[in-house]
Amino acid sequence: MEDTIVAISTAQGVGAISIIRVSGKDAIKIVCKIFSNKNFFNAPSHTIHYGYIMDGNEKIDEVLVSLMRAPKTFTKEDVVEINAHGSIMTTDKILEVLLINGCRLAEPGEFTKRAFLNGRIDLTEAEGIMNLINSKTDISRKIALNQVGGKVSSMIHDLRDDLASIIANIEVNIDYPEYEDIEEMTIDKINSNLSELEDKIDKILKESKNGEILTNGIKTVIVGKPNVGKSSLLNRLIGEEKAIVTDIRGTTRDSVEANLKLDNLILNLIDTAGIRETDDVVESIGVDKSIKLIDQADLILFVVNYNERLSEEDLIILNKLKGKNYITVVNKCDLDKKIDDEKLENVIYISALKDNNIDKIGDRIKQMFNLEKIETTDLTYLTSARSGAILRKVLDSVKEVRKGIKNNYPIDMVEIDLKDIWNLLGEIIGESYDEELLDNLFSRFCVGK
Ligand code: GDP
Repeated sequence: MEDTIVAISTAQGVGAISIIRVSGKDAIKIVCKIFSNKNFFNAPSHTIHYGYIMDGNEKIDEVLVSLMRAPKTFTKEDVVEINAHGSIMTTDKILEVLLINGCRLAEPGEFTKRAFLNGRIDLTEAEGIMNLINSKTDISRKIALNQVGGKVSSMIHDLRDDLASIIANIEVNIDYPEYEDIEEMTIDKINSNLSELEDKIDKILKESKNGEILTNGIKTVIVGKPNVGKSSLLNRLIGEEKAIVTDIRGTTRDSVEANLKLDNLILNLIDTAGIRETDDVVESIGVDKSIKLIDQADLILFVVNYNERLSEEDLIILNKLKGKNYITVVNKCDLDKKIDDEKLENVIYISALKDNNIDKIGDRIKQMFNLEKIETTDLTYLTSARSGAILRKVLDSVKEVRKGIKNNYPIDMVEIDLKDIWNLLGEIIGESYDEELLDNLFSRFCVGK
């Protein structure tokens, strides 16, 4: 973090203003070298200065420069932001002179990474920033803002506080063993406190599924045997010709992905190759993939043909859908009814060809995911797969400890396990981390953030 970094922080392109952001110990000194307004160097923090960016004697642009001295800045380092005219030539030229004068080009997310490494934000807040930038709906924006504001972080701190008081209880017990009965009392108490903690974590994990869905979208797969109209349905849903529609059976071999916005829900649609027992190598790869996708999906649209009786293949798929979140879409209702639909559940009748009833699918999905109810909660959710996975590990460990207690595990061993769980919770907020994790996380940010 010795380097002073620079990046164009606004979107690349023509606009009224572009911002070039500089952060690091030499930020002020370097900008001063290329700025016509020499009062800038000794100016107080959080002030704005007018002048020209110069390349030697040549003026590059007329600008306003914000000066923010450490530590009250985004990165906790000295930060300078140059507000230039939003022309690609101008911003590139300013970037170039800053690089010549001693800055290094920032990596994606490096400003946020510094904010994290310098202790200004924790990992859940950093993830919140990324979610905020990427939010596609109003509700995902609100969830991300809560995360940036530290609500997820305090949820984790609360769990750690609970755990800390249980650990303190045990320590009292170990330190004052002369009091009779105290061990038994302590064990009962610890057990009931751990059970409360378990319930709390369980609730957070359940609700987090909502957070993940609202932030990242509902992973939706369209399945059905070949030729029932899956690609046609996908095209109707997304309103563009993204999947190839043909009347030769089994032509949609690769999955096609598309995003669809349904009010506050995002559907990540995946069209699968037709599920069909087959000898064709290419197609059978697609079929295996479809079956796998059913298992990974949050929602399945199972398409069947109104104009045909249910076949063996339909029934195989139906069998695989048992216990899953699915809608049965009976397509081709513009043709004569031949389907024996008594066995089908959660059915919507449509015609992809005639564009009939397609909107009913969206209404049903909104109902199934209970959006109204979600909107009334305070929208504090774990949204990253990373933190969800750690919290699940925490839950398993708490369960293990309770089992141990039941089996008369020595209390000092219980304490060690609880301390490990406390540390594990710390990984969610980034109290301990490895470089690879950070690189992976921050590389998903845009340059300049
Ligand atoms: P997929 O193999 O399941 O993806 O099916 P496609 O979307 O490729 O459609 C197969 C054939 O059925 C094409 O000829 C479509 O035009 C036709 N088709 C799709 N939807 C309908 C519909 O609602 N009514 C009728 N009559 N034909 C349809």
